[in-house]
Amino acid sequence: MTRPRRTNALSEHKVYRLELACDSKRFFKTEAEALDAADIRMLENMSVTIGVYQCPTCHYWHLTSLKPNQREVQ
Ligand SMILES: [Zn+2]
Repeated sequence: MTRPRRTNALSEHKVYRLELACDSKRFFKTEAEALDAADIRMLENMSVTIGVYQCPTCHYWHLTSLKPNQREVQ
């Protein structure tokens, strides 16, 4: 009695998620959403500067905090 082992091609197909490398990061589907979130973040913490970038891995938008290397200009 041997049972042929069938691999489920469909479920295998789902294994690869594009945001794999960005799992711990918050992402936004549009630039506008990311900018909005960055804005809020900067309002909450005036000493931080947030930039947005489109991720080459997941193609969504991420926030990144920019450290002021130069003197702050208000
Ligand atoms: Zn990403």
